[in-house]
Amino acid sequence: MALSRRLPLVSDRPAAKAGLKSERILWPERGPGVFEQELESIEDALMTTTVEKAVAWAQTGSMWPDTFGLACCAIEMMSIVSSRYDIARFGMEAFRSSPRQADLLIISGRVAQKMAAPIKQIYDQMLEPKWVIAMGACASSGGMFNNYTVLQGVDKITPVDIHVPGCPPRPEALVEGIVRLQEKIKAGVPPAYEIRGVAS
Ligand code: SF4
Repeated sequence: MALSRRLPLVSDRPAAKAGLKSERILWPERGPGVFEQELESIEDALMTTTVEKAVAWAQTGSMWPDTFGLACCAIEMMSIVSSRYDIARFGMEAFRSSPRQADLLIISGRVAQKMAAPIKQIYDQMLEPKWVIAMGACASSGGMFNNYTVLQGVDKITPVDIHVPGCPPRPEALVEGIVRLQEKIKAGVPPAYEIRGVAS
């Protein structure tokens, strides 16, 4: 018996790594007791994680976009709720008509100067945490409208988390932007307003 107890640990289960010295772990020839069997089933049934990761997972699975469109890009944006693109897969099919119920603002189209103030107001009314996707060349940089009537990039009035290129970007490109945003959130990257230190 003394020889068996000198054997190295044979289990790499989380409980063993955490320092649990049960019979099953220290003595491989001995069959598991009732306690060890129960412990094993608990380890198989439970998934350990951190609160931060669990919150990020929940946020990415229930991100609700604001109902907001500006120009041609908005037509492409609308189609992502259709059965062909089906953003319900991401828990995002509920476009909200109130910014207070939305946490994602998709700027889809060119931003005329007169629309800058309403967009800023909508953004300010959204609760934190909140994210912004600039969809298309016009929203990202003014696009072909290099003149005084169009804002040369929506990041001049709101922090932007993801830029989706294209004129217009296809719905697949917007879905790609959404997936990239989810990856950022799951990786623990803070929203753009925090990175830029912008008061929201
Ligand atoms: S990027 Fe192209 S499709 Fe989108 S709003 Fe500008 S002109 Fe229209």
